[in-house]
Amino acid sequence: MNRLNIKRTDIEYIAHTYARFDVTLVRGKGSLVWDEQGKEYIDLATGIAVNTFGYADDLWVDSVAKQAATLQHTSNLYYTEPCVRLAKLLCLRTGMKKVFFSNSGAEANECAIKAARKYAAEHKGAEFSTIVTLNNSFHGRTLTTLAATGQEVFHKDFTPLTPGFVSVPANDLAAAEEVFQTQKVAGFLMEIVQGEGGVLPLDSDYVTGMAKLCKQYDVVLMCDEVQCGNGRTGALYAYMNYGIQPDVVSTAKGLAGGLPLGATLLGEKVEHIFTPGSHGSTFGGNPVCAAAAISILERLDDNLLKKVKRKSALIFDMLTGQPGIEAVDGLGLMIGVKTKKDAGAVIQKCMENGVLVIKAKDKVRLLPALNIPDDLLKEALIVLKNAAGEEET
Ligand SMILES: *Cc1c(COP(=O)(O)O)cnc(C)c1O
Repeated sequence: MNRLNIKRTDIEYIAHTYARFDVTLVRGKGSLVWDEQGKEYIDLATGIAVNTFGYADDLWVDSVAKQAATLQHTSNLYYTEPCVRLAKLLCLRTGMKKVFFSNSGAEANECAIKAARKYAAEHKGAEFSTIVTLNNSFHGRTLTTLAATGQEVFHKDFTPLTPGFVSVPANDLAAAEEVFQTQKVAGFLMEIVQGEGGVLPLDSDYVTGMAKLCKQYDVVLMCDEVQCGNGRTGALYAYMNYGIQPDVVSTAKGLAGGLPLGATLLGEKVEHIFTPGSHGSTFGGNPVCAAAAISILERLDDNLLKKVKRKSALIFDMLTGQPGIEAVDGLGLMIGVKTKKDAGAVIQKCMENGVLVIKAKDKVRLLPALNIPDDLLKEALIVLKNAAGEEET
């Protein structure tokens, strides 16, 4: 199929849920990716924080190919080694006690919410079902995770959503405490760095304050680390930057480096909440996805995380205060750039000049591979800087 056919056939046969860029990608290696005309791009988007070590990373490919050629799927009716090794690795690295595997971020959050409600039902009474989330959050597209998502724009035309969700302003401890006092609350869910909301890290005092409040009111503390987890912020999980210990951590996106895998990590408080039949997934913990995730996690060591922080500082240094750039926000390699010009126009210009970046609200969002070479990163940042700074013609 030539280019026009791919685009036209996509429009004809695929539901129109995405406003795709006018590019067909065919092949990638590391932080470079090529379109069907052979044009090369430096990729600072990584499939929305999914390709943790870029495209076709050798170690990742090797793990995936070996597992695919050995045992690709069994269902969860049997024991298999990769998901067991992965679960142990996740628990040892986080201090969490148990893992439930699923296939996406939304599902990882569904599991987190079920854990919080079941804990509350068993320990406080079934009427303690309210889940408190933050305004401007994003937790997924299922009807329940939409209910958790504190942005009306995503709710429109899909109501009624799952009841029992309340959202409060971020960085306002008193607002959350008032809900804890006046409503029957099961859990509190936050993104340490709001991704889709515009790459906004929560205030450090707020994160630690909410952890304290959750303990005080026996509310299950859940961190949605779907986007900010897996090394993205320079810590294995973003909550680790703040020295808190959540009761539940959900993650997905970068976990398996490009294959669909969700994980919900359960801490001591909710470790024993799930019993046979209370939750499940056909694909969850699939051996190929689990093998991929092991190959990623094993490389997210202190040395790599230090490099993430250094590359992050390089981005802040190169972009902050430049002409056309109003602000640079974010943590680690999860960065939002507020440009004077419309972000969409800057993104388009970058693409023309061989750099892939994406949008978060009204910002240009950067989510490069964690191992992007410095020279490629600098080259891409110069393209972005010029795109943001050029006079409009
Ligand atoms: C992307 C994202 C989700 C949803 O993940 P899917 O895999 O698309 O279901 C949930 N929470 C956050 C913070 C995300 O960034």
